[in-house]
Amino acid sequence: METENKTNFIRDIIEEDLRTNKNNSIVHTRFPPEPNGCLHIGHAKAFCLNFGIAEDYNGLCNLRFDDTNPIKEEEEYVESIKEDIRWVGFDWEDRLYFASDYFDKLYEFALKLIKDGKAYVCHLSPDEIREYRGTLTEPGKNSPYRDRSIEENLELFEKMKTGEFKNGECVLRAKIDMASPNINMRDPIMYRIIHAEHHRTGDKWCIYPSYDFTHGQSDSIEKITYSLCSLEFENHRPLYDWFIENLEIFPSRQIEFARLNLTYTVLSKRKLRELVEENYVTDWDDPRMPTLSGLRRRGYTPQSIRNFCDRIGLSKADSTVDIALLEYFIREELNRTAPRVMAVLKPLKVVIDNYPDDFEEELDAVNNPEDPDAGTRKVPFSKVIYIEKDDFMEDPPKKFFRLAPGREVRLRYAYFIKCESLIKDEQTGEITELHCTYDPESRGGKSPDGRKVKATLHWVSSKHAVEAEVRLYDKLFTKANPDETGEGKDFKSNVNPNSFEIIKNCKLEPSLKNAKLGTRFQFERLGYFYVDPDSTKEKLVFNRIVTLRDEWAKIQKRNR
Ligand code: ATP
Ligand code: MG
Repeated sequence: METENKTNFIRDIIEEDLRTNKNNSIVHTRFPPEPNGCLHIGHAKAFCLNFGIAEDYNGLCNLRFDDTNPIKEEEEYVESIKEDIRWVGFDWEDRLYFASDYFDKLYEFALKLIKDGKAYVCHLSPDEIREYRGTLTEPGKNSPYRDRSIEENLELFEKMKTGEFKNGECVLRAKIDMASPNINMRDPIMYRIIHAEHHRTGDKWCIYPSYDFTHGQSDSIEKITYSLCSLEFENHRPLYDWFIENLEIFPSRQIEFARLNLTYTVLSKRKLRELVEENYVTDWDDPRMPTLSGLRRRGYTPQSIRNFCDRIGLSKADSTVDIALLEYFIREELNRTAPRVMAVLKPLKVVIDNYPDDFEEELDAVNNPEDPDAGTRKVPFSKVIYIEKDDFMEDPPKKFFRLAPGREVRLRYAYFIKCESLIKDEQTGEITELHCTYDPESRGGKSPDGRKVKATLHWVSSKHAVEAEVRLYDKLFTKANPDETGEGKDFKSNVNPNSFEIIKNCKLEPSLKNAKLGTRFQFERLGYFYVDPDSTKEKLVFNRIVTLRDEWAKIQKRNR
């Protein structure tokens, strides 16, 4: 892997500011999630950036919930967001804030703008406001309420606050410029009436500030020096600056970067919520979800997510990252750290006819060839074993080198075996049992006389096997861009119906008997697996995190 690429245009700006001692060289950032859903890997990009920059420049990063909408937001998401950020490895210490903590302050800011003749109460209906706003090519028209006196505006705003108007009856707007080429500057809404309880302020307010009237001022109140946000806010920056200038408050600076998009994935809380609510997935933490709780449940590590976020870097232009790169990082880490074990997902019984009946022995197996300190373990061997169904074919095509009638293969760490005969279910014709012979001289899987075999199979001794349930996952969408759909359909029509498979009665080597919740293993030849929290004392449940196939390497090769 290339070395971490940490230079980017935001760091360039900060380093220039540090050289000129702008902001007294203070680097203070924030991560501002809206608590209306769980965080996804795109949010991880944003908070790794914000917390990472603070760490690297000896600064601070706040966590601030952007909770100005009383209708969509829920307390449970506040807790899940905190848990996810901590899990990835960042700490806001005592700097946890809520935009709703600033409602009083924001109300005062609004009064100041009214008193300065820079805000007014507008009684146009939402439809009329839209109509008066104009379009990208045509200027807007002034609202007939634009020239209300300061006194009248103060009085009406007070009435808005005390609940004398119904939802939607009027709004408070900034008086800027209805002809501005930037639509965000055409008298944007500052406050709207929403008669609803707020998760923190209860029924204290029935007017709520808009995103634009909240975000920059919250940054300013917290003396944030760099307000890093995604590109869709670029057109809001003039408004962000307008409020700060006209309120004469701390000059936070907004800098935009491109959002993360991933192939075969949707990264929008609204869409992820639809998948949950319409039961396409089990919950926000379904292991197929790109949420941090889903990735955690799948078995991803915090380190792999941080490595991924470092690697994708930052840019000013939207682009899409291949999901194979995310998988690359967990595979690369687990290749170094995960113990190897043998597990048979779809067992086929093999009886070794010339092996002594009641005999058993322990064979040495390497725990991790990538890690010399990981040592070896003992794996029991006996007369009846299981191999993977897929590793045998009665009538193999040319390129199939694994076990077949009359053919010899190696059992990893054990012996050479040769298939002598097979037994089928009379009704179904399914192969139920193989009969093999072994070569006692090949103990440890070593060739006794230089003769070669073309395949090495994993196996588990039948009487020692531990049973488990294994869950396999595939991409959640069938299209690289899930939003590419047929007429009248939405992204959900591209959900992959085969993205989830449960396999019961898998056979594992006995060293896994007491596998701890949350631990990770490589099942030889099958991939990396994670002990799922659904496991009980009686039944282990494993999730496959990724297979062993390095798709990223393939893509790299193709691109060269
Ligand atoms: P969503 O569309 O998923 O609801 P959002 O932008 O509405 O995302 P917020 O909770 O407002 O969600 O986002 C918090 C921060 O995370 C914002 O600064 C936002 O710019 C950033 N963010 C959200 N999605 C991405 C993404 N895909 N890539 C990078 N940053 C993101
Ligand atoms: Mg948002």
